[in-house]
Amino acid sequence: MPATPPLSLDDMDRQSLFHPVTSISDHITSGPVVYTRGDGVRLTDQHGREVIDMGAGLWCVNVGYGRAGLADVAASAMRELSFQHLFGSAASEPAIRLADRLLNLFRREACAPQMARVFFGTSGSDANDTAFKLVRYYNNLLGRPRKKKIISRLGAYHGVSCASGSLTGISAYHKGFDLPLPDVVHVSCPHYYRHGLPGESEAAFAARMVAELRATIEREGPDTIAAFIAEPVMGTGGVVPPPAGYFQGVQKLLAEHDILFIVDEVITGFGRTGSWFGSGKYALEPDIVSLAKGLTSAYFPLSASIVSERVWRVLEATSRTTGAFMHGFTYSGHPVGCAVALANLDIIAGEDLVSRSEKMGRYLLARLRESIGDNPFVGDIRGTGLMVGIEFVADRARRQDFPAEGAAHRLVAKRAQERGVLTRALPFLPVTSFSPPLTVTEAEIDEAVERYAGALGDVLPQLR
Ligand code: PLP
Repeated sequence: MPATPPLSLDDMDRQSLFHPVTSISDHITSGPVVYTRGDGVRLTDQHGREVIDMGAGLWCVNVGYGRAGLADVAASAMRELSFQHLFGSAASEPAIRLADRLLNLFRREACAPQMARVFFGTSGSDANDTAFKLVRYYNNLLGRPRKKKIISRLGAYHGVSCASGSLTGISAYHKGFDLPLPDVVHVSCPHYYRHGLPGESEAAFAARMVAELRATIEREGPDTIAAFIAEPVMGTGGVVPPPAGYFQGVQKLLAEHDILFIVDEVITGFGRTGSWFGSGKYALEPDIVSLAKGLTSAYFPLSASIVSERVWRVLEATSRTTGAFMHGFTYSGHPVGCAVALANLDIIAGEDLVSRSEKMGRYLLARLRESIGDNPFVGDIRGTGLMVGIEFVADRARRQDFPAEGAAHRLVAKRAQERGVLTRALPFLPVTSFSPPLTVTEAEIDEAVERYAGALGDVLPQLR
C-alpha cells in the first residue's frame, strides 16, 4: 500500500481544529492563517509574510510580542514550582505577591481604597462569572434571595460562558445557545454618535440613558436588582467611550437602590485607555472589578476579580456559619501566570507604557482623521488611549448603515489584512477597532494608517 502523504498544516487544521468565533463554512473554503512569530507589533505567518498587528491580538498584548524577559520569568517559575492551587488555604509566593501588588495598584491608580481582596481565574469570562456568582452569594448571605438580577447594556461584551455570555449584550453571541439566562436585563447602549437625537447635547443624552436605567430598575423592582455591569469604555460593542456625565448619574442611581457596581476592566485595565484603569479615568467606584488580558499581556492566561470591602465584609462576617466559599478553579492563581503578571507589571511601569498609550493614542487618532476623516463612508473616528474605533456609514448626513451583507468595515479590514495590517471588524456595529501594543511607535502608526487608508481606497468602488 502506498504511504499516505503527510497532511499540510492547513489541511490538518481544517480536519482537526474547531475555531472559536469563526464561520465554519468560510474556514473550510479559505483555511487558516498560521502565525509563527511575533516581535513588537509585528506578526509573521507561515509563508514569511509580515503584518502589523494593530489589534494586539484581542486587545491584550499590551507590552508587545516576543519579550524574552517574560519567557525567562515563565521558564524559571515553572522550574521552581510548576503548579500550586489555592484551595483550602494553600498558596504560592507569586500568587500572594500579585494579589498584594494588584490591590495596591488598583487602590492607588483608580482612587479606590475600598477594594479589599483579589480572586484569581484564567479568563475574562470566568472573572465575570465569578462576579455573577458573587453578587448572588452576597445577597443570599444578606437574606435577600430576590435581589439577583444583573443589568447590563446592549452592545456590552463580557465573555461567552453561560453567565458572562448572558451579560454580553450582543445577540449574535446568544443566538442558538438559548441565552441570555433569566435574571439578566439589558438597557440601551450609551452611544451618543449613533443614538443621540438631533439637537440633543451629550449631557442630555447621558441623562436620558440614566433615566432609562431608572425606569428599568423601577419596572423590575429595586429589591430584585443585585448589580449593574459595565465596561468603562465599551470595546467589542464599538469602542464607545462613556458620554459625559453618564457614569456619575448611573452611580448615584445604584447607590440609591443598594445595587452593586461590577466594572469590567478586561480591556481597559493596564494602560489601554491611557490611564492605568478606566475606573480611575472616569471616577468609578466599583464593588467588583474584572481584570484579564493586559494583566499578563496575554503571555499567560490569567484573570483577577477584585472585591470591595463592602462585599468582603459580608463574606467574612458570615463565614463561620456558611462554611467554605465553594467557588474556584484548578488554575486560580497559577504560580507561573502570577510570576509572569508581576514581571509584566514591571515592564508597564518601568517603560511608562500608560503615558505612552495616551500619547500614541492621540497620534493615532490624529493620523486616522487626517488620512481618512473626509471619506464619505467614515462617520466617526473616536477613542481614548490606544483604544480607537472607526465607525462606517453608508450615508454620513443621515448616519445610515450599509446593508449587513456588504458591511464596509469588514471589506476594508479584509483588504487591510492583505496589505499587511491587522485591525478588527467588530460584530455589533460597523466599527473597526485599533488597539495596538502600547509600545507602538509613531513610525509604525504611520505605516499602519497608510496601509489601512490604501485598503479603504481599494474597496471604495465596492462601497458606492
Ligand atoms: N470582558 C471584556 C470587556 C472583554 O473584552 C472580553 C474579551 O474580549 C471578556 C470580558 C472575555 O474575556 P475572555 O475572552 O478572556 O473570556
